[in-house]
Amino acid sequence: MSRIVAALLICGGVGWAAYVWSAQVYLEETRARARATLELYTQGLEGRLRKFEVIPQLLARRGEVIALFRDSADPAVVARANMLTEEVNGTTGAQDTYFMDAEGMTFAASNWASDRPFVGGNFAFRPYFRQAMQGELGRYFALGTTSQKRGFYFAYPVREDGEVLGAVVVKVDVDRIEQSWAGGQDDVIVSDRNGVIFISSRPDWRFKTLRPLSQAAIRQISEDRQYELSDLTPLDIAWHSSADTAFDLVHIADGAARGARAQSVEYLVEAQYVTDADWTVYALAGTYWARSQIRTTVALSVLACLLVLLVITVVDQRRRRLVEGIELQKAAAERLEQRVRERTADLSATNVRLEREIEEREATEAALRRTQSELVQAGKLAALGQMSAAISHEFNQPLAAIRSYAENAVTLIGRGRHDEASGNCGRIRDLTGRMAAISKHLNAFARKPQGRLSAVPLDSVIEDTLEFLKGRLDAAGARIEVRQPDERLIVMAGPVRLQQVLTNLIANSLDAMDGAAAPKIELSVERDNGRARIRVRDHGPGIAEDHLDQIFDPFFTTKEVGRGLGLGLSITYNIVKDFNGSLAARNHEAGGALFIIDLPLAPAEAVGEAAE
Ligand code: ADP
Repeated sequence: MSRIVAALLICGGVGWAAYVWSAQVYLEETRARARATLELYTQGLEGRLRKFEVIPQLLARRGEVIALFRDSADPAVVARANMLTEEVNGTTGAQDTYFMDAEGMTFAASNWASDRPFVGGNFAFRPYFRQAMQGELGRYFALGTTSQKRGFYFAYPVREDGEVLGAVVVKVDVDRIEQSWAGGQDDVIVSDRNGVIFISSRPDWRFKTLRPLSQAAIRQISEDRQYELSDLTPLDIAWHSSADTAFDLVHIADGAARGARAQSVEYLVEAQYVTDADWTVYALAGTYWARSQIRTTVALSVLACLLVLLVITVVDQRRRRLVEGIELQKAAAERLEQRVRERTADLSATNVRLEREIEEREATEAALRRTQSELVQAGKLAALGQMSAAISHEFNQPLAAIRSYAENAVTLIGRGRHDEASGNCGRIRDLTGRMAAISKHLNAFARKPQGRLSAVPLDSVIEDTLEFLKGRLDAAGARIEVRQPDERLIVMAGPVRLQQVLTNLIANSLDAMDGAAAPKIELSVERDNGRARIRVRDHGPGIAEDHLDQIFDPFFTTKEVGRGLGLGLSITYNIVKDFNGSLAARNHEAGGALFIIDLPLAPAEAVGEAAE
């Protein structure tokens, strides 16, 4: 908004300056033209008048003329005078030449032969006559009372011995002057002291007054019969000095000339006062051309100003957009740099952290490895210790018993009590059998890890196992529930070792339910995604949470010494591993321990072999 106002103010200022400047230039040009016109016409006018001015003087001094004046009453003299005036008038080109006697009576005139001769007319009322009678050159301008023609009058006294006999008068017509002015570019008017225009390049301005006539002027005009008073109407003229330039400008209503609507036309006025004649000559130069030049200049200046402002605005906007763009780019670049810096800082921080973490991890790994090896070492030692304790316990007891039985047997044989001695020997045999069984267990650890695997039907293995355990199950009064799928599942395993696995798990369950009223074991088989899953669940107390991750360790047992070696599950676990299967233990949510064996099913060709 403020920019628009500023632009308008600037353009207004420029327009005003252009107006002042161009008004000065073009009006000055117009004025120069008017002045040239004025000078030319004034000189022409003055030259013409001066030419006629001398004629009455020359005539009045001639003796011949003085003689005529002396006898002006004589008709013969009058006739001669008429001839003379006519001749002189013809030679000089004046309008009229005539002689007036001391009373103002015209006794001879160049137009004596015309329709309206001056001869006999008394023009004593004319100021030029009065001036001549006072011995001066009379000058006057008036509308001829007889001829009804405007003319300039020069009158000069005819003297004889100091007495004024009359006056020689020459009337010069102004029509010719006017005619020569009419074709000019500018208008020219001549006004008398009362402001009456009596010569004008424009016929319609003739006898108009430039200002209202004063009462004295009216009286004087009517007395002198200078003009027809009824002709004298004021010209519709408005004077004004241009406010911005020092020119005299007028507006003149121009309706009459165009015959149409009155229109005010502006003129630039140059005036010159002619002292001799007491006239003012005005040159009126129309300002139409100057005004249109001024208008064009102002319009062009304002347009140019607008254009310049537009260009400035466009350039400024472009510059601003450019600067904004550069700033945006700079900001974007800075943001980018900032981000790069941040990311770099982040990355180096992360790097440092990672390096630290790597170091920590390496340190931790080293510590772990150290701890591991320590643990392995410790575990080995512990296992060895446990094993040594267990084995020495397992073996020491029977060995001590065997020793005492053997000593007793020696004593009994010595005393001849052979039956009792043989009983002792029998006990010795049982104990060694038990020791053999233990060492057989231990042998399992020394076995070759990977025995041959074959396709083994699960149902027959389960059947054999239950057959094998029948005595124990019956002794414990335990019930075993077996659930198998309709299809026959055949797994890749060793039949004897798989039986050993199931036997171990069921035996453990029986141990866990020792003393229970109705021991019950659930054994289920199912197929799961190309594998067979065997679950053995009992209804005993379950496995203590603390022990869950230890029960597969060798020599881990919760059973009293002599009842368990803690090798069963460890062996079982390894056998299942050898079958490429897995063994897991957990507590059933409804109580009791649950062991899950997961075994790979035998492939089709292996199954075919087994069938054969
Ligand atoms: P042992 O039977 O000689 O103790 P195992 O390796 O067979 O050795 O078992 C280790 C331990 O696992 C047992 O002492 C017992 O604490 C626990 N255990 C095994 N099976 C069961 C089960 N069915 N219920 C509860 N505890 C069990």
